[in-house]
Amino acid sequence: MNYPVVDFHCDALSKMMENANISFKDGYQLDVTYQRMLQGEVSLQCFAIYLSERWGTPRYEYILNQVDVFKSRVLPTADGMEWLKWREQIKHIRPKVGQNSEQKNLTENNISYQAGVKGALKNDHHKGGHSLKAIDINSLEVPSGCWGMLSVEGADGFEGNLFYVKMCFELGVRFLGLTWNYANWAADGVLEKRNGGLTKKGIELVRLCNEIGLLLDVSHLSPAGFWELTELTKQPFIASHSNVYRICPHPRNLSDEQIRAIVSMDGRIGLTFVPWFVKQDEASVKIKDLLPHIEHICELGGENHLMFGSDFDGIESWVKGLEHPACYPALAELLLKHYSESQIKGWFNNNALNFLETHLPERSKSSV
Ligand SMILES: [Zn+2]
Repeated sequence: MNYPVVDFHCDALSKMMENANISFKDGYQLDVTYQRMLQGEVSLQCFAIYLSERWGTPRYEYILNQVDVFKSRVLPTADGMEWLKWREQIKHIRPKVGQNSEQKNLTENNISYQAGVKGALKNDHHKGGHSLKAIDINSLEVPSGCWGMLSVEGADGFEGNLFYVKMCFELGVRFLGLTWNYANWAADGVLEKRNGGLTKKGIELVRLCNEIGLLLDVSHLSPAGFWELTELTKQPFIASHSNVYRICPHPRNLSDEQIRAIVSMDGRIGLTFVPWFVKQDEASVKIKDLLPHIEHICELGGENHLMFGSDFDGIESWVKGLEHPACYPALAELLLKHYSESQIKGWFNNNALNFLETHLPERSKSSV
């Protein structure tokens, strides 16, 4: 049993930019490939544009280069993958539920598709072991195609140039994390001990993002920057890949106050599969170790604000049994033992799609 998945964060593009020979279709150097997206029923993957510290001074060219990797090496390889840029597209991404004859047809295809996937997973060490008998045909959600979206992780590569930011939005980037872990021209990152907030230029950047419809992501932002942004932004923001500090005290995780703030602005939190953000001092982190994070966010009122931001391809060790997108059925299977189907559908896709349907820019109103 699985549900169509929305994943708000992966770093496949920077790996692909560094190595022109990596294939998005099935490249063994990647966690997220087209093949595994199909196996895990990922209907929407957000691809982050990340500038590695190894590349030296951040340059706009590296951002453009990764937009090009997405256009020329991801979209054409994942035959039929569509690029999400506008609010109007969301209705086409929502999973269909097998009720009428047309949908029943799709559902039947999905069952044979799942059977195929099961076969494909047979030799994989992450097989989920889910039984086709258990599937209720009327409640089965069928993914509506395969979609990709772009975010920029850290404003460093914009070189302090707001015109570059605007051009990137025109190219199709829809989310921006103001910082990575360290300080840049816009704000301080979460690992800066001085915990500075936004710079004057950073405030201008936020105003521009609000104006053009570029949505903001606080996952690597300093606590001071986080609270300044709550005051400043006219749009709710997301933490695309962060967990709960109370459960695992890592500076990249969110405090209870931050979680409450995101819930009250109707933002979103992408639960992330980075092992050291899930559990401290553990040699082997398991899928079940995600449960306390989910439970805590729900206790703070965030049931409808929770989604996933895997950080696949941004990590070099993985949660056991959750190493790549083909493992999502195993996650669904575990969650089904503890939560209702409608809660799980919310976390797998609905909460993320509701946010995008409310806050993505509208093509009909855009001058781009
Ligand atoms: Zn990150």
